[in-house]
Order: sequence, then structure tokens, then C-alpha cells
Amino acid sequence: MMQQYDRAKQECGDALLLFRMGDFYELFHEDAKVAAKALGMTLTSRDKNSESPVAMAGFPHHQLDSYLGKLIKLGHRVAVCEQVEDPKTAKGLVKREIAQIVSPGTLTDTSLLEPTQSNYLAAIVSPAKSSPQFGVAWLDISTGRFLLATVAPHELQDLLARLNVSEILIEEGTDEESLGALADGKITTRPAWSFARKNADDLLLGQLKVLTLDGFGVDEHDGNAVRAAGGIVQYIKETQNNTLDHIDSLEKYCPSEHVEIDQATWRSLEISQTIRTGNQDGSLFSVINRSVTPMGARQLGIWLTSPLRNKAEILDRQDAIGELLQESAARTEIRAELKNVFDLQRLVGRATTGRCLPRDLAAIQKTLATLPKLKSQLGKLGSKLTQRLEVDMDLCEDLQTEMKAALADPCPAQMKDGGFICEGYNKELDGLRKLAAGGKQWIANYQKTICEQTGIPSLKVGFNKVFGYYLEVTNTHSDKVPTDFIRKQTLKNAERYVTPELKEYEEKVLTADEKALILELELFNGLRSLVQSHANRLKATAQIVAYVDVLAGLAELAASQSYCRPEITEDHSLMIVEGRHPVLDLIQPTGAFVPNDTAIDEDVGFIHLITGPNMSGKSTYIRQVALITLMAQIGSFVPAKQARIGIVDRIFARIGASDELSRGQSTFMVEMTETARILNTASSRSLVILDEIGRGTSTYDGVSLAWSIVEYIHDHIGCRTLFATHYHELCELESIFSGVKNYCVSVQEWEEKIVFLHKIVAGAADKSYGIHVAQLAGVPDWVNRRAEQILSRLESKPDAQSDSTRTKLSQPNSSESGLQMTLFEISDHPLIEKIRNLDTDNVTPMKALEMLSEWKANVEQERSHSS
Ligand code: ADP
Ligand code: MG
Repeated sequence: MMQQYDRAKQECGDALLLFRMGDFYELFHEDAKVAAKALGMTLTSRDKNSESPVAMAGFPHHQLDSYLGKLIKLGHRVAVCEQVEDPKTAKGLVKREIAQIVSPGTLTDTSLLEPTQSNYLAAIVSPAKSSPQFGVAWLDISTGRFLLATVAPHELQDLLARLNVSEILIEEGTDEESLGALADGKITTRPAWSFARKNADDLLLGQLKVLTLDGFGVDEHDGNAVRAAGGIVQYIKETQNNTLDHIDSLEKYCPSEHVEIDQATWRSLEISQTIRTGNQDGSLFSVINRSVTPMGARQLGIWLTSPLRNKAEILDRQDAIGELLQESAARTEIRAELKNVFDLQRLVGRATTGRCLPRDLAAIQKTLATLPKLKSQLGKLGSKLTQRLEVDMDLCEDLQTEMKAALADPCPAQMKDGGFICEGYNKELDGLRKLAAGGKQWIANYQKTICEQTGIPSLKVGFNKVFGYYLEVTNTHSDKVPTDFIRKQTLKNAERYVTPELKEYEEKVLTADEKALILELELFNGLRSLVQSHANRLKATAQIVAYVDVLAGLAELAASQSYCRPEITEDHSLMIVEGRHPVLDLIQPTGAFVPNDTAIDEDVGFIHLITGPNMSGKSTYIRQVALITLMAQIGSFVPAKQARIGIVDRIFARIGASDELSRGQSTFMVEMTETARILNTASSRSLVILDEIGRGTSTYDGVSLAWSIVEYIHDHIGCRTLFATHYHELCELESIFSGVKNYCVSVQEWEEKIVFLHKIVAGAADKSYGIHVAQLAGVPDWVNRRAEQILSRLESKPDAQSDSTRTKLSQPNSSESGLQMTLFEISDHPLIEKIRNLDTDNVTPMKALEMLSEWKANVEQERSHSS
């Protein structure tokens, strides 16, 4: 058996091997140690007394799902090796085979998948001299959605960030660092041949049942992408011991057809998860998702990752949503019907790739049964998109009729006890069941007949495991036993017999149950194959349902939150009347959020500088504009009273260093890298959101950088830009550049305190109110008053800093020593002078160390003097 184990282990590479032994799955050697630690199982050993005991750990077979789930979550790949013959009938060692290799990217089990999120297995082929672009392919095996793209090196990270892939296949020898941090812990290295072009072509043509990939828009530049896609098919062929019929199409993702959203922007706009918690809750997705089914939710996720640039496509979606908004009765009906729809995409995926249970087929059947009503509701609508969906919706009636006739209702969840095929579907099955159930009656009749025939009133039919059915006669009647009774067992005061008749019956009854179950399984597999053969049609239908759900969900959202339909134009305008932040608008109590207007148009200036104190709402405002634009380009209505959005090609959002502490990197460097990227890649059609750029350095540095960035955008890019800053110095730009316009967040001063109105108005802020904010935050009064003093002196005599700050704040009972040594004083210290004069290029390490300890001694001495 251990030889069998070793062979299986070789086959599954670096995956942990779960080896089925009777009622248990066992792991051996290193695998056992890894799993025992990961799952908290006890580590035992096999052949304990031998010289080389084998480490071993295991769990009961019915816990497979939960243990598998835990291992996958921890990032392991797991191979499941099953017994492929019945141990009862097997001669010698039971045959075993690897049934499936499960990894984070190849999950099909619904309990291990996040219902509202796509789960992608990606493959990346790095650029080579002949093909300078990255080839990327990604597959959601649970639904069969399969895409490829050719992307520039700088776009790779962005794509991976948006897709949130679970596993990445790369060719052995690939430089993992070039893939960035996003790939960490997700990489599965594959042999180079599995990415070879010839192999890829053959595999893809075979899988997709086509003669050329041209039909999918693949061209000569997509060489690496095709290799990546081939690498995926190769991998799943090796790991999934099943047909993959639901993977029947390939989509080419063209970055230029969608709004490009880079990694930093994706994060800072909190589209799919929040920065702070990394959870879906509180993200744009979570508040605008009103889909009823997981399919709709995932479709919305896909739309968010790939907003449109094509006006006609946006308008089609808008028309559909608009109509569903207007026709509230139809919308309600449709959404009610959708409640009866199960996750058809993943169910079909499971039926073709994974373990499929009776209740899965029942769920497919029930889903199909609701389609006619959905279709007829759609038929009442007139928009181009809904009409197309209605026409394309394939009810798969043949399949639904067959499944309805076959499956029991309610259908048991599990396979093992049978009962999932209903009565009347199969004559043989009905007969077997009757036999199994009718047993008791037959025995009663038989007992009665025999009693009469033999004249033994106490004769009884009994059953035990060893002899099966028997007739028991007490010794008092032994003389009446007929000669054709065959004695089987002698008890103290009775004898047990069998008759040929009883044996024959026993044979039938005992096996009827077993036979019925086997037959049920056969019928079930037949149904499963039928579903498999319908995979393409079912998948297309599921896609349509997902669309209907998303559209109806967005209409519902628009209705409940009073969104408006934005006018979509191809110019550079960005006009929003009473716009709201989609997330805050929902989280805050109704009416609490202060709406704001945005007016970027030919004659209003395309760069808006927004000044205002901290906490006044600058960041919220500029994000809201970006989110409204994004929502408009997925076709959704937007949280505003009125809007006109000129289609953007990219959205860039850059948050200043200090707003992003959670990230824990050298933030100023990151900030500048990302700013560089914006300046190098934004076009005149882009939307740029800059929040407090330059804050991570000294004020003069920061102001100067911010200033020149605005200049550059104005003169060289010319794109719509919202720049939130607390540097009032920048407001001067308005008078120099025609395209720059100042806005500020209005603040009311009231009895020395300030009240944030969160209202954006034209003009520049005249004060920072930083000290007021500090006050609000509970900074000790002493500090605030001292700060006010320093401020007023700085403002009146900006060139005489040292003078103003040296004056102490005289206040009773205050400890003044803490304030004595200011930065300016430090610069006069003799030590500073020494450091200044030190010729670092020509000092030996030894000398340097000497000087350092001398200075240290001086400083210590000084401190002991002053205290
Ligand atoms: P800033 O960037 O100016 O420091 P933020 O945009 O971070 O300010 O806003 C601070 C807080 O003020 C937000 O967390 C939010 O609770 C509130 N806020 C901002 N804008 C509005 C608004 N328009 N209406 C209501 N509350 C707002
Ligand atoms: Mg801010």
C-alpha cells in the first residue's frame, strides 16, 4: 500500500496528499506533519515499532470538505486520492486514484467559495525579446469564465489588483519579483513546456472546439496571452479529473476599451474593499450591490473592474436600468422571481468539474423552472438590452422537463441514502423499491402459510446477520418439522431452519435496497451528463440571468436612493448638481450628508483646487466625484440630482502620504512614484484626483512640488483634475493659469469655534483652522494657545521666525522648560557646527566612531548640567 501511496505522491507534485483508507483520509511523512500543525490534528505514526516509523495523521472521510477548506485557505494545494473500487469486492489491494487536485484557484465547492466574488486562477507569461508585453489569462473555473489579455509591464499589477486572483501560474524560472507583492503566496510554478505555444494552441482549440482563435479577437500580438491561457488549460486538465465542458469560450480583454484604474486608485477609492479593514463592508461595491443572486453580485463586480468607454454601450445599460426604474411593478416581479434562482453558473461548473450532489441538480431544475416567468416579465420591457436578453434567454425546457420528472421533491442533500430519484421515473427502480418496502408483508404472509401447513402455531420467521432469514421452531414441536426444512442452527430450546423459498426471497429483498441505490446513482449520473451536455446553453442562460439581476439591482438602487441618470457625452465636461458620496450617503442618517456641485466645463476651468481645513470634507468631495464618474461609466445611475459626464479613459486617485498610514511603507516615496505615474500616463481624457499631494515632506518642498504638478497638468496634460490641499499658497495659481479655479469648503466660525458646513464654494480658503481642529480633537489648551501665538507672529513677520518663536508663552503653573529648546536653537548648537564641518568623504570609520562617542559624552554632560 505504501508503494501505491508513493506513486500517487509522485503524481501530485507539491500538493498535500489525502489518501483514502477505509473511512479515513490519511496523510503520511512530511504531509502529515504539515497538516497536523495546520489543522491541529494529532500526529501519530505507522509501524511504530519498526526502525523507521512513518509519520501519519488523518480524519474521518465525512469531514473532507471542512478540512479541505481549511488547508486551501492556508494556501496549500491538496490532492485527494480515492478508492476507486469497492473494498468488499476488490481482490487484494484496493485500487486508488487521484480524483482531484484542489488549489485556491481551482475551487468548485460552493461552501469554499465567496458567493459574491469571482475566484480566479491566473497565468502570467513574462515578456521576452520577441514579445515585449505580458501575457495574462484568467479563469473562474467555478463558472467557466475565461479571459486573456496582453498588457504592458506597468499594467500587470493593476490588473492583478482589480481581479484579486487566488492563484497564479508561472513558468519555472520566472522572476517572481517582477510580479510584485500581489503575487506573494499565490504562485504555483509550472514546467516551461506547459506554456509552450504549440501546446497552448492545441489545447485551446480542443477545449474551445474551434479551428482558430481568431474568432475570439486574438491576434499576432497576443502570443504570450495565448501561452498563458494554454498553461491554464494544461493545469486544470492535470488537476481536474473530469470534463471541463463549461469552459467553452475565451474572451479577450482589451484594456483600451475600459476605464483603466490602477492599483493605487482601486485601493484608495475603496471600490471592492475598504482600506482600513480590507473587507467588502463599506466599499462602493457593498453599498451599490442590490443584486438578488450571487451571479448578479459577481457580475456587478466584473462591471466595476471594467467600466466602459463606449458611449453606446453605456447608454444601452442606462436605457435598461431607466426602464426598470420606471416600471417598478415589473422590477418588483423580476426581483421576486430571482429569489427562486440559484447560483446557476457555479452549479453548472460543479456538475461538470466537481462533486455534484442531488440537491445541486435539484437547484438547477428549480432555477430552470422559474425562467419562463422571468422571460415573460422581460418580454414586457422595451429597452434594447432587456429585449436582447429576453430573446437570448434559453429556457432549456427539454432538460428541465427531464430533470423535473426524475428528481424527488424535496430532494435529499446527500447521495448515500438514495431517495433522490422520484417514483414513476424508472420502472425498474420502482420495482426494486416495492420489493424492499414490501418485505414485511410478504414475510407475514409466508409465516402464516407455513404455520398452517405444518400445524406449528409458534413458528416464527426471524432474521440475523449471520444466517439471514430463518424459521424458528421450539423443541416441543420438533416432531412436526417437514423434511424439506434445512437445519441451520441449534439453540437451547429451539432449532432454526431455512427453506429454498425463503432463501430465494431473501436474496431478492436484501439486494433490492442495494440495487435500488446503485440504479439511482446510475440515473443520477445520467442526469448529470445531461446537464454537462447542456453546459453551454445553461452557461449562456446563467449569464443572462446575471445581467438581468444586475440591471434590476441598479434600478432598485436608483429608486431607493433617488439617483439620477447622468447624461453621457464625449467632451471633457464634468457637471454634477447636488452630488453625494455613494457610501457616506448611505451610511449617514438620511439628509445628513451635504450634497455638493461640481462644474468642470470649457469655461469653468478644468483644474479645481479645493482648499479647506482638515475634516472639512475635501477628501470626501473629490472621491465622490471620482466614484460618480466610475458609476456613470458602468452604466449605473448616480447619487446626484443631475449630472453630465464626459467619458473618461482613466481615473487616477492619489491620496497623500499621511492619509494612508495603514500602509506602513516609506509613504512619501510611494506617493511620488504614483504621482510620477499619473503625470506620465494621464491623457487629456483622464480624471485625476489628487489629495494632499506633497504632504509627506517639508512645507516648502511640498508646496513647490504641488505647485509644479498643477502647472504640468495644466500645460502638458490638460485633464480634468481635482486637487485637494491645505496649502493656501497654491490658490495663487488661479490668477496665473486660465484653467485653474479655486474652491474651498465653507466653515463657520462661531464663538471662537468652527463648524464644518461640508459645502464646496467658489474661492480660496483664507485660513487653515488647524488650531481649531486641534482644539476639537482635545489637544491641551496650553498647546493651542501657544500655537495661536506662534501663528500670529509667523503671519505678521514671516521672515523673522527665530524671533517670534523664541518668545515664551508666559502662563502661570506651566512648565516652560519643555518648550525652551526649539528647532531653531538646535541649529545654533556647537555640535551642529561640528557636524557641518565634518568632511564625511575623508574620515575613516575608526575616526568617525571616536568622534561620535566624544559628541555623545558632550551631550550627556550638557544634559546633566542643565538639569
Ligand atoms: P478632509 O479631507 O477635508 O480632511 P474628509 O473628507 O476626510 O475631510 O471628511 C471628514 C469627515 O467629514 C468625513 O469622515 C465625514 O464624516 C464628514 N463629511 C465630509 N463631507 C461631508 C458631507 N458632504 N456631508 C456630511 N459629512 C461630511
Ligand atoms: Mg483629507
